[in-house]
Amino acid sequence: MRRLLPVLALLVCACATIPRADLGTSPPEFATFRDAVKTPDAGDEAIRLLSGYLQVDTSNPPGNETLGAKYLAGILEKEGIASEIVEFAPGRGSLMARLKGNGTEKPLCLLSHLDVVPAEAKNWQQPPFSGLIDKDGMIWGRGALDMKGMGLLETLTLVWLKRLHVPLKRDVILLAVGDEEVDNRGMLHVVEKYWTQIGCSHVVNEGGMGIRDAMTPGQTIYAISVAEKGLLWLKMIAHGKAGHGSTPIPGRAPERLLKALDKIRARHPPAIWHDSMRETLAQVGHDVGGVTGYVLKRPTLQNWLAEGQLMANPGPAAAMTDTVNITGFGGADEPNVVPADVWAHLDCRLLPGHKPLDLLADLQKLVDDPNIRFEVLHKADANESPWDDPFYRALARHAVAGKQNAVAGPVLSPGFTDSLHLRPLGARAYGFVPFATTQAETGSMHGENERVSSENVRDGLHVLFSAVVDVAATSGN
Ligand SMILES: [Zn+2]
Repeated sequence: MRRLLPVLALLVCACATIPRADLGTSPPEFATFRDAVKTPDAGDEAIRLLSGYLQVDTSNPPGNETLGAKYLAGILEKEGIASEIVEFAPGRGSLMARLKGNGTEKPLCLLSHLDVVPAEAKNWQQPPFSGLIDKDGMIWGRGALDMKGMGLLETLTLVWLKRLHVPLKRDVILLAVGDEEVDNRGMLHVVEKYWTQIGCSHVVNEGGMGIRDAMTPGQTIYAISVAEKGLLWLKMIAHGKAGHGSTPIPGRAPERLLKALDKIRARHPPAIWHDSMRETLAQVGHDVGGVTGYVLKRPTLQNWLAEGQLMANPGPAAAMTDTVNITGFGGADEPNVVPADVWAHLDCRLLPGHKPLDLLADLQKLVDDPNIRFEVLHKADANESPWDDPFYRALARHAVAGKQNAVAGPVLSPGFTDSLHLRPLGARAYGFVPFATTQAETGSMHGENERVSSENVRDGLHVLFSAVVDVAATSGN
């Protein structure tokens, strides 16, 4: 009977299917715009300018983002596009530039961050701020993927809209902010002081990208982030009587902390399917076909036959559960001292709809120790944007256009970006860097040897520009 269950499930579930996504079509009159950025010269220019941008050291800390903002401002200035650099601290700027439309629709924002995480040069094959282009056309540098590559493509999107005199129905705003990698102060500063001027309805930012061979060999999944998990950062502090390390006495703070952590580690929250996961698996299913495709297109079969595999993989598992990750400890420095207080850091991430303080209450109940208290270091709710949206469809459509075995779909990001601050302001935010990367390349983000291929830069410019034209240009002229 056990063996028959999957077979029965296949038969029973024949009716409930997630359809192939309708990504719409682009107005034919925009083809000339798209073709203009597809030329070898347009790609060469993007590669050269990205190489220059990667040579600007905006490691955060300390940031020095104004240097990066000036570099991008220089590119715009040559085209006669005005921009403004606003600083939240000396040397720590964000760049804003705008191409005016006719105001029929609310502005579209092209968002990136100027700062990058630090790089330890000795561990790299090429210097991290060299912008070196090797014989294979790989462009090396911290930020190539996260996210100076995208920032440069966004800048060139403005440049090309201006060069080609694309008639716009909405303003297109370039925003390149500082401090995303540490405290998001650049974005928060822009939100606080300038949001009334910006007021965009849509944002494209980092969050997702194309992953080669993600589920099946030869297939590229272009993951567009539509949602980001919420967060609850906790310091869990155990208290007890201080004493000498020579004589173990039950009930001291370190022991209490360990017991509490054991309980937390033993929790196994149930898998919860976000609709984006179902949708993307279904789109993969439509592409691969066969029995696998049959299963992936059907929610009931997804539950039965795919959930186990997904939950065994840390990435999907993080997108399907409220996670509590133990990330650090502190206590006494001396080995012979039992301190009165010891603590652990907990990085908790929550699915949309789940409240940080509810999770805190659950953890307090689970730990069940009056000598353990929790300090909330930071919290924010998850948020999401619909993928039934013209800009989402335009990004997805151009990501896969003309490519074999390419699928686009929405995803929920376990991590958060500056988009988390913009969705509550009414903007629909999509995280999509239009590169198709190998898993080794994505592993280089925040790691060693970060790099992007010339082919990705050429194609990414075309994809991003085409999507922006589709939703920002006036049609029927
Ligand atoms: Zn980033």
